[in-house]
Amino acid sequence: MSPAQPSGPDDPLAAPIAQRQAQPLNQADIALRLAQTADRCVRCGLCLPHCPTYRHGRQEAESPRGRIALIQGWAEGHIAASPRLRGHLDNCLECLACETACPTLVPFGNLMDEARAALLRQTPWWRRLLRRAWLLALASRAGAPLAAGGGLLYRATGLAGLATWCGLPRRPSGGAFHRLAVQFGRLPRIRRSRHAPPVAEAGLRLGLFLGCIARAAQPGAIEASLVVLRRLGLIVDIPAAQGCCGALHRHNGLPAAADQRLRRNALAFAGLTPVGLASACLAELRLKPELNQAWDICRLLADLDWPAAAPLAPLPLRVAVHVPCSQRNRLRDEDAAFDLLRRIPAIELMALPDNAFCCGAAGTYLLQRPVMASALLGSKIASLAALAPAILVTTNTGCALHLTAGVREAGLSIEVLHPVELIARQMRTLGETEPGP
Ligand code: SF4
Ligand code: SF4
Repeated sequence: MSPAQPSGPDDPLAAPIAQRQAQPLNQADIALRLAQTADRCVRCGLCLPHCPTYRHGRQEAESPRGRIALIQGWAEGHIAASPRLRGHLDNCLECLACETACPTLVPFGNLMDEARAALLRQTPWWRRLLRRAWLLALASRAGAPLAAGGGLLYRATGLAGLATWCGLPRRPSGGAFHRLAVQFGRLPRIRRSRHAPPVAEAGLRLGLFLGCIARAAQPGAIEASLVVLRRLGLIVDIPAAQGCCGALHRHNGLPAAADQRLRRNALAFAGLTPVGLASACLAELRLKPELNQAWDICRLLADLDWPAAAPLAPLPLRVAVHVPCSQRNRLRDEDAAFDLLRRIPAIELMALPDNAFCCGAAGTYLLQRPVMASALLGSKIASLAALAPAILVTTNTGCALHLTAGVREAGLSIEVLHPVELIARQMRTLGETEPGP
């Protein structure tokens, strides 16, 4: 059993990552490669209706076709790297809805990553340093404990209440940080013991990928994963040397830092099959040949033969399923959460309307482009208000944070969970022996 892999088109920027790393290029070579890849776009416009930023403002420069033309114009020397050009490229969520809709298979994600990296190299040194510094704070080993401690302090000292009283949550920039800070507060309780029931699937020795900030953002989902995997008889290690997957760096123009993180994780997971909870992290891990068998926990649990001794209690509630862009367009497995949750008897599953459009979280986008992020979140919240589910599930950490914030601010009583948390909860509901995380 191995996860399905999306195939890439035949293009210089669609080559396997290891191959691309083996060819150090100068700025002129990179510009040529960008121009050649952008030239694959035939300007048909079929991607436009799929683009959330184009749908929002109907501007050509905010569409995939427009962005490709801007990259090409800059790479060929016809357009300067002005703040306006950078703004149009930075407004891109890298949701890849355009890439999946494109008939000529333009590798839009790789094109945008490389364009951002090339543009960042042209910025003053202090800007690059600043970007590295805040990404390091977010994605280092210390990031999750700091976020958890900071979130706790923020609430305990009354600062969160004061910020709310001052109307900070309604302001785009400070509001984005506030919305995240109020959700952090603890780290997962992880027992590293491997005392588990017998292995259900021969040869599958799993390593749970924890991510970076996800440890502070979704401690319950990590604990639930361990409970469910071990209850089903799988051996699960938690490699101590693992770290951030590098996706935040790659999409912020720092591919070398991203590749370094992939190499570290490849070493940490040697001899193990990685399994992860966050679709964006999994998509990034799969770029590395040594990690391309990384399992999405929903797909793994959906496809596994469950022992008869692990039934799930019925859940006669409406559950809405949000499908993150990384789940749909990078992992190319939009049914994973549905397939898993259908195991729960009596559950009423519903796809969140407009699942094909990004919620606005998009990694660090919710912090960097809070106005657009909030606008995109607004339509998800409106759909949720109309659907009125008891629970909303999503398979990506950033989306979970963003949607939780939106649900709270709209005053909706909808619980936001990872699908595996719901599975663990229904196992517990039957009062089975709890192996503990
Ligand atoms: S990646 Fe998403 S936001 Fe960016 S151009 Fe494509 S569809 Fe639009
Ligand atoms: S669908 Fe593809 S070829 Fe057509 S405009 Fe969009 S990116 Fe270009």
